[in-house]
Amino acid sequence: MASNDYYRILGVPRNASDTELKSAFRNLALRYHPDRNHGNKEAEAKFKEINEAYNVLADSEKRSMYDQYGEEGLKGSGSGFSGFGGFQNMDLGDIFGDILGGFGFGGSGRASGRSRSRKGGDLKHDVKISLEEAFNGARVSVNFERTELCSLCRGTGAKPKTGFKKCSTCHGAGRVQYAQGFFSFAQTCPDCHGQGEVITSPCRQCHGVGTERRKASVNIKIPPGINDGTLMRVSRAGDAGVKGGDSGDLYVQVYIKHHSRFERVEDDLLYYVNLSIPQAVLGANVEVPTIESGNVSLNIPAGTQYGKVFRISNKGMPAMNGKKRGDMLVNVKIEIPTQLSSKQKELFKELSNSIDGEEKIVKKKKPESIFEKIRGSLILS
Ligand SMILES: [Zn+2]
Ligand SMILES: [Zn+2]
Repeated sequence: MASNDYYRILGVPRNASDTELKSAFRNLALRYHPDRNHGNKEAEAKFKEINEAYNVLADSEKRSMYDQYGEEGLKGSGSGFSGFGGFQNMDLGDIFGDILGGFGFGGSGRASGRSRSRKGGDLKHDVKISLEEAFNGARVSVNFERTELCSLCRGTGAKPKTGFKKCSTCHGAGRVQYAQGFFSFAQTCPDCHGQGEVITSPCRQCHGVGTERRKASVNIKIPPGINDGTLMRVSRAGDAGVKGGDSGDLYVQVYIKHHSRFERVEDDLLYYVNLSIPQAVLGANVEVPTIESGNVSLNIPAGTQYGKVFRISNKGMPAMNGKKRGDMLVNVKIEIPTQLSSKQKELFKELSNSIDGEEKIVKKKKPESIFEKIRGSLILS
């Protein structure tokens, strides 16, 4: 796919609101809609382009990926994003419903008010994955309940084989012609609602509805580096449509569980390392765990202060779209021992005398004021 500027295609500024986007899309899509440009390849290509641009920009998740990383951001490296995006699945009925009705478009059975066929509902399901799974990418099976076509009548709502007859109004065509002035229009048959058949005896399993509730399971591919809270769409995995309508979509919101060792800060991983007082004072080599298997060795220089952060490059989370991997940030904490042997206590006292002694040598150079004495005692109490 060539690099496209979706904002330019829709003719909107980069900070366009949802309303502006929708309005720009409507105007363009109406102009280039295939129903108005029969056989015009150029219009067809343009229509596809508009759809694609709108499909990305109308989805806040995709729009932000696109804003940050361009089209590459939407593809990922084999990530689920392109797979679930489904540009071709744009539900024009949602956007055109009102307009198409007014213009008298033929309608594909989707335009609202023309047919009993109806798009199935969208569903939402949450999944929780571990930080390791977010790091490596994962396949997660999502179990949920949805409306599916009735297994007995396969969605017709009629008793199989004998429960329906050909519609007498449209003679099975599903559409009727009518004339208005010089023009002739085709319209969905009002009696069979475009089905071409009418039900004479309803299905006993679904009582004529055509659908039933069933347990479903969908496998989704989670791309490495996914962010907490990302909303993924599985096209047509939602509730089944009624009377030939499209299925709704399944939205899966991916949350990342709290990790016992690492805290994620965008693409970086924060790790707290505990140093003993001697390690901080004298310096040390410490082993630091990584999100992948194995440790890395980190050199702590002598005199390292509490709160100091060391950066180990390239040991963070993978960034989406093949951007550079994040780093690991190692934040130093210093452990103050609470249980000391008498020997250790002696050593600390000795150390204390030695350090305080040096301080006194410095301090003795100027006379101690009464104020300093009082402050000292307050701090100590
Ligand atoms: Zn009919
Ligand atoms: Zn049925």
